[in-house]
Amino acid sequence: MARQEFNRKTKAARALHANGICEYCGLKPKKPEYDHFIEAGDGGDNSFENCRFVCDYPCHRSKTTHYVKQRRKHERARDKANGSLKSKQRMGRGNNQHTATRPVSKLYEFVEPRE
Ligand SMILES: [Zn+2]
Repeated sequence: MARQEFNRKTKAARALHANGICEYCGLKPKKPEYDHFIEAGDGGDNSFENCRFVCDYPCHRSKTTHYVKQRRKHERARDKANGSLKSKQRMGRGNNQHTATRPVSKLYEFVEPRE
């Protein structure tokens, strides 16, 4: 299967969620379509959260034409997210230590010689 599709239940729920209005341009689509917010190729699934109720044109088509550019952005963002997840843990701990220790030790350094 090249492309996964949302099931009928998800589509119905998403259409209801969007009030029958394109989730990208806010206009009522003549021909509603369902867009994978994260493309299946990028690991997007067929969940309600990844489904967007959109008009076929311009939104769905423009997204598809911009997809190549978007994909690079996505990939960069994803790499960043993956990287920051790891570095967040590292930085989170590191930052906490730094923010906790640095200002204190600086304070002492400033305070002690003065007094
Ligand atoms: Zn639209």
